[in-house]
Amino acid sequence: MLPHVQRLERRPSTYPDAMSFPAVFLDRDGTLMREVNYCSDPKQVEIFPGVPEGLLQLKEAGYKLLVISNQAGIGRGYFSEAQYRLVETELARQVQPAVFDAVYFCPDHPERATARRKPGIGMILEAQRDHNLDLGRSFFIGDKAIDIECGHNAGLRTILVRTGYGAKESHARPDWIAEDFAEAVKIILKETGDERDQSA
Ligand SMILES: [Mg+2]
Repeated sequence: MLPHVQRLERRPSTYPDAMSFPAVFLDRDGTLMREVNYCSDPKQVEIFPGVPEGLLQLKEAGYKLLVISNQAGIGRGYFSEAQYRLVETELARQVQPAVFDAVYFCPDHPERATARRKPGIGMILEAQRDHNLDLGRSFFIGDKAIDIECGHNAGLRTILVRTGYGAKESHARPDWIAEDFAEAVKIILKETGDERDQSA
């Protein structure tokens, strides 16, 4: 059973709250780095081309960068949280000089999932609270239908990348489809520019 999720309404983006920040929520496996089945070894971490540069461009445009990752391999007993942390550390090393504002992961077994597990929006709401985020100005980039569903449930604009599982997720209904992370960044920067023009 999937957790019950409540759809949040997207607020108009033309009246941004000066005290809150737009964010780009980032799936990890298959979006930022090569998909390997249940990555548990830092040696398997291989980021996609253009990821550090893209993250820096988003940061420059004012976005907080939050990784939102289901890690059911922990709940299934395939690897430990300590092993997960080594992978997280290696990813952070490879994306330098870019830096994530925070990384959220959900260890839940899919059959015993809480609302934190995507497509639930628990991790998004934690990030919103921790970083004072304006979800109405924010985006979610992911390679799976559950990423798109999660972003949609949280009232975010969504981009499906065709890396990872993305090319096979034909039932997903994202706002945009991008070839890869670098193209997703271009879409967000264009939207950001258009919104600034509209509100100028
Ligand atoms: Mg993924």
